[in-house]
Amino acid sequence: MIKTVGFDADDTLWHNEPFFGEAQAALIEVLKDFANGSDVAGVLLEMQRRNVPTMGYGIKAFTFSMMDTGLAVSGGHLDSSAMVDIMNIGREMLAHPVDLLPGVADTLEGMAGNYELVLITKGDLVDQERKVRLSEVGNWFSHVEIVSEKRPQTYEAIFGRFGSLNHSAMIGNSAKSDALPAVRAGAWGVHVPYEVTWELEMVETVPDHPRYFEAKDIVHAAEIIKDIEP
Ligand SMILES: [Mg+2]
Repeated sequence: MIKTVGFDADDTLWHNEPFFGEAQAALIEVLKDFANGSDVAGVLLEMQRRNVPTMGYGIKAFTFSMMDTGLAVSGGHLDSSAMVDIMNIGREMLAHPVDLLPGVADTLEGMAGNYELVLITKGDLVDQERKVRLSEVGNWFSHVEIVSEKRPQTYEAIFGRFGSLNHSAMIGNSAKSDALPAVRAGAWGVHVPYEVTWELEMVETVPDHPRYFEAKDIVHAAEIIKDIEP
């Protein structure tokens, strides 16, 4: 049976992506004299794509991308008060409460006695630590790993420390960052889609693979893990 279970955090254990949608709506409002909403959204996505390789994931990089977007759509004419408004959108995101998704607490409570649970998340170090603390998921996870990117080698290194990859599984809302790289590393992967997926986490096709599963929610994911026979 599976011995180690990795969990993604954002949009797997708690809501996250909707906050970015709200922030984008606020940015569109700040920039409404310069461009329409869909143009702002398009530039913002392009700025994020550009900034991820050097800045990574999370709210700080997103705030930088919002500032880039403001400068781009205004042709450099954004005044300092609008820039302050944009920075404040980011600051407010860093103060959001943390709400666990339905079924998460009971599922983690049930699994903690049977598996070694490892939280594996990417994003801002300080913000991810804040969310781990506020959510109190530390009660169930024996280890918390905050990483800059989720590649097969990331899972190989983390799961390798706890035992064999063959006896490890990763659960998360991103097929691209959670389930697939874990499978490529030699572990098992369970994709639990969230209501919205960030464009940069989209995958065009998901390969049919004996170690890859789709679950409808976290309760279903736990059932899948229980039935895996490495
Ligand atoms: Mg996620």
